[in-house]
Amino acid sequence: MYRVTLIPGDGTGPEITEAAVRVLEATGVKFDWDIQNAGEDVYHDEGNPLPERVLASIKKNKVAIKGPITTPVGTGFRSVNVTLRQTLDLYSCVRPCKTYKGAKTRYENLDLVIFRENTEDLYAGIEYQKDSEGARAIIDLVKKLSDRSIRPDSGISIKPISVYGTERIVRAAFEYAQKNARRKVTAVHKANIMKYSDGLFLEVSRKVAKDYPDIEFEDKIIDNMCMQLVQKPELYDILVLPNLYGDVVSDLAAGLVGGLGLAPGANIGDEYAVFEATHGSAPKYKGLNKVNPLAVILSGIMMLRYLGEVEAAEKLDSAVSAVIEEGRNVTYDMKPTPDDPSAATTSGMADAIIGKLR
Ligand code: NAD
Repeated sequence: MYRVTLIPGDGTGPEITEAAVRVLEATGVKFDWDIQNAGEDVYHDEGNPLPERVLASIKKNKVAIKGPITTPVGTGFRSVNVTLRQTLDLYSCVRPCKTYKGAKTRYENLDLVIFRENTEDLYAGIEYQKDSEGARAIIDLVKKLSDRSIRPDSGISIKPISVYGTERIVRAAFEYAQKNARRKVTAVHKANIMKYSDGLFLEVSRKVAKDYPDIEFEDKIIDNMCMQLVQKPELYDILVLPNLYGDVVSDLAAGLVGGLGLAPGANIGDEYAVFEATHGSAPKYKGLNKVNPLAVILSGIMMLRYLGEVEAAEKLDSAVSAVIEEGRNVTYDMKPTPDDPSAATTSGMADAIIGKLR
């Protein structure tokens, strides 16, 4: 019996996590779910979208699965997702993007894994609002240190990239490559322009790569990488990226394999792991029992593997593959057109997967 923290999330989160829970239980693995709500509604009720009880539960159980959580744009509370990753030091964001036979894609036989650094870069959340004391102080300091002027009506976000942070994410990518018999790691950056942040990321990546002589290493500039991923994605295997590029390229790679509905993820640190889809809360579909539950279910498969339940993970992956290949009981986003009247509901797709497990 595994005690696992379950964060249903908001928007469509509760529907897809409910589907994932049913599917995970149908594998025969026993779970004792510690349900912890977080997000927008909790913010209204408890004044904090990520109350201490949620963090305490993950710290105790060590493993969590979560639905997406809405982040207000520009104002309101800070992203719960980002805070969770930073507070629990979940430094590796692992996002496999694999084509399933029968999925609606422009490419076949893709099997990429993205390692996105999860704790620093422009995502660190060190920001100064326009006209704030902090923004003014930084503008003055930059003028003094470098004689470069930042326009006085600027908002400022800081981009820290450290040796420590880079070394551990690049090492995690190589360790994964080694354990899973993968052939190549590509470090992605913009070191030609941001010499001291991305330049450092590249320098440390090269150094870590030397410890893994059996695995090919290369680097690519982010803009070139985006074009290459669209033109010849089959050339790539494992990508390791700083936080912001990793965020953007994760969605790009999800698009290569059939869309966000099919893109799972895991946030993993040395002590804790939180499994969640790449996609957000898709709030316009809230309560409609319509969106694709696969990304959370595939995240659940990653969780099974993390827990050492490899057989159950493989059984579930086969059941998912069979449902996708048949193409009958899949949600609207996996049908030839989104208005296809034969599209399955969220719960209907979960039922079909459970049917294949029996
Ligand atoms: P989104 O991922 O929610 O939606 C992007 C597009 O993909 C939409 O068209 C949506 O309908 C579609 N989509 C998403 N999930 C789907 C699914 N399971 N099945 C079918 N279609 C799906 O991105 P967004 O609209 O930019 O963000 C909505 C909210 O989610 C924002 O508040 C954002 O901050 C938040 N968000 C949360 C997380 C997280 O919890 N980790 C991640 C990304 C975004």
